[in-house]
Amino acid sequence: MKNLLKVAEKVSYKKLSDNYLFSEIRQKTSSFKDADGREILDLSIGDIAYALPPSSVNAMKKAAEEMGDNARKRGYSPENGYPFLLNAIASYYKNLGVKIDTDEILVGDGTKSDISLFPDIFDRSNELIAEPCYPVYKDAALMRGNKLYSVCGNKQNGFLPEPDGIEKKPYVITLCSPNNPTGSAFDKEKLKKWVDFALETGSLILYDAAYSAFSGDGAVKTVFSVKNADECAVEFCSFSKFAGFTGIRCSWFVVPEKIKLSGGKTLLSLVKRKRSATFNGVSYVTQRGAEAALSFKGRKECEILIKKYLSAANKLKDFFSKTNLFFTGGDNCPYLWIECPNTKNSFEFFENLLVKTAVVCTPGVGFGNAGEGYFRLSAFQKEDTVNEVLNRFSSSDIFKDSTSGVLSKN
Ligand code: PLP
Repeated sequence: MKNLLKVAEKVSYKKLSDNYLFSEIRQKTSSFKDADGREILDLSIGDIAYALPPSSVNAMKKAAEEMGDNARKRGYSPENGYPFLLNAIASYYKNLGVKIDTDEILVGDGTKSDISLFPDIFDRSNELIAEPCYPVYKDAALMRGNKLYSVCGNKQNGFLPEPDGIEKKPYVITLCSPNNPTGSAFDKEKLKKWVDFALETGSLILYDAAYSAFSGDGAVKTVFSVKNADECAVEFCSFSKFAGFTGIRCSWFVVPEKIKLSGGKTLLSLVKRKRSATFNGVSYVTQRGAEAALSFKGRKECEILIKKYLSAANKLKDFFSKTNLFFTGGDNCPYLWIECPNTKNSFEFFENLLVKTAVVCTPGVGFGNAGEGYFRLSAFQKEDTVNEVLNRFSSSDIFKDSTSGVLSKN
């Protein structure tokens, strides 16, 4: 063989599966042809179905114009975000009754990279994840070569695992609420158990709040609403889901000034030191769009989008309520997490569903072993798509044995 590199990959990379979950699903579906020629309806990935809020679009157009003008153009942006966006994010927290200083906020280009790269600053840490979970957490921990622990969600705990029974030692704990993939969400009481556990063990919580804008009454909207969370938690939030920024890329995270590392430095100072060496900030145009999404008008426009997605989730929920299948989600997050009918093998169900209905779901095992036997449907869909999906579900026999016989066509 010619040109064999004399550098080797990290040993830890050998533990990774060959494909990232959604790439594997894409591969399987792209080669599929429906026998009846139906369009494939993809409810596997949580990508947007509607256009961005008009306020953000207009703000980005205006910002792009500025870039074309010698007097108003911007070069490199401050790596942690422009003051106008930091102020808008601090106001967002103020509206939730939480005081966050603009110095504690760091703007990023997406929660996927923000959260997966964050633990790189720790030396050989124990990482604890609550499974089933967004596959990125596990892949990133494996790549770091860190020791990985997991706590499992299941039917009994409503897919909201608690820290009881976990060996008491310091961990970097990743929690996601409202949760991808299960749609379940912590209330304050349940989340407080994790905060207390972290404080007792000297652990740090990485709290993924990418879906917090969807959470309804009773569900926690920010980890900082829990007492003392500012001593042990970092919160990650994204514009992707509530403002449709999946293709624009903008996010933020909050590192409270109070959190100190055992070496005496603040966590915030170390995070900023790392960022100054590795990140050149998010584009001015993007940050103006993000600022507009958090304005009064922008938030109203985002609420319309959120309502549409939750209404699609509600339709799916109505359907599955008439089956005898266990499911969670749909209220605080546009994902439904459903027990597979007649099989415990979620990839087998994924293929069955595809062949019978030309609908793509995400097999639960892709979110970790605790997800085996379940599948996820994403309600980031237009109403018409969901209606068509439900028509196909009703006309097929795939959920028949699991129904109470009251399913009707849409
Ligand atoms: N966190 C969770 C739990 C997600 O489900 C997703 C995307 O699906 C992300 C983060 C990624 O967010 P972003 O688009 O900001 O990278």
